[in-house]
Amino acid sequence: GSTIGILGGGQLGRMLSVAAARLGFRTHIFEPGANPPAGDVAHAVTTAPYEDEAALRAFANACDVVTFEFENVPTAALDLIEAQVAIRPGREALRISQDRLTEKKFLESLGLQVAPFADVPDMDAMTAAVEQIGAPAILKTRRFGYDGKGQARLHKAEDAQTAFADMNGAPAILEGFVDFSHEVSVIAARSPAGDVACFDPGENVHRDGILHTTTVPARLNTSQRMDAVLMAGKILNSLDYVGVLGVELFVTSEGLVVNEIAPRVHNSGHWTQNGCTVDQFEQHIRAIVGWPLGDGSRHTDVVMENLIGADMDRVPEYANDKDVALHLYGKTETKPGRKMGHINRIVR
Ligand code: ATP
Ligand code: MG
Ligand code: MG
Repeated sequence: GSTIGILGGGQLGRMLSVAAARLGFRTHIFEPGANPPAGDVAHAVTTAPYEDEAALRAFANACDVVTFEFENVPTAALDLIEAQVAIRPGREALRISQDRLTEKKFLESLGLQVAPFADVPDMDAMTAAVEQIGAPAILKTRRFGYDGKGQARLHKAEDAQTAFADMNGAPAILEGFVDFSHEVSVIAARSPAGDVACFDPGENVHRDGILHTTTVPARLNTSQRMDAVLMAGKILNSLDYVGVLGVELFVTSEGLVVNEIAPRVHNSGHWTQNGCTVDQFEQHIRAIVGWPLGDGSRHTDVVMENLIGADMDRVPEYANDKDVALHLYGKTETKPGRKMGHINRIVR
């Protein structure tokens, strides 16, 4: 097919569109919000809510394959699209990763280590969960959380009530606090033929719950590096996955613990744009259109840094730095915590 539909018009959709264009494909963005960053670089944009059935049908009709950069597309919208055109990666990956409880159970079923967790539908369950898991712990909404939003930390058991109130009645899970030395992630891809390719794991530092930097290579020994890749492969194969997936991991003295997975290109994979011949965006496009996966081996060390809010003031300085590749998302409105762009600093 020659037109790739993308649900969601944020920066991930934008960078997917650029990668698709380089390979000669057109992209069609479906996005409820006005002026999506991906709209500038896509061939076509549909601005409509996910409840607009006619718009969804027309969109699906215009596309040869549909993918997403946004995980919270309503099920009914996906049903409508899928009646006309294939969605890659599949619905199962989306269903599982939309809900932290389902996701934790799925990862556990694969024999992977996850943080101790308990379902918290109400305050009674919260009390029981704190008794079971103890403190410190983190309460997270099951759905819709990102960049640390929808989370409350319990430093001690007595914080249970206020943490639960912070969820505003949304179903949540309580997670035991993992004593990790650092965080890494693996960006992995799988083709329809079942080939799997992983990018080198990156080491991630968060600031105020938002990814701040990703550094490659990550501090991992040979066996940890092998484990990280095998875990990603296991997840991909068990879902019969097609496309790119991000796996966030905690490094502990008892091995790697999976924090969460994202069924899409991932912020911690942006370094691949300047560290590999084929980056995560092109790899995803290749996978979903059935091309062979590209060579994602790292040819240079890189530090990726997100440009958030006022970080944009440093753009002139970065523009003069010969070791910096700038990636700006074309967002006109700066807000605190809003991702405006990123840099990839080549480490020579
Ligand atoms: P993202 O933007 O990555 O989707 P998110 O809102 O889904 O973020 P998480 O990845 O669950 O949030 O958590 C954000 C960060 O909080 C983690 O990267 C880690 O630093 C810390 N964190 C989350 N869960 C735990 C845990 N169980 N133990 C220790 N730290 C944790
Ligand atoms: Mg997340
Ligand atoms: Mg995360």
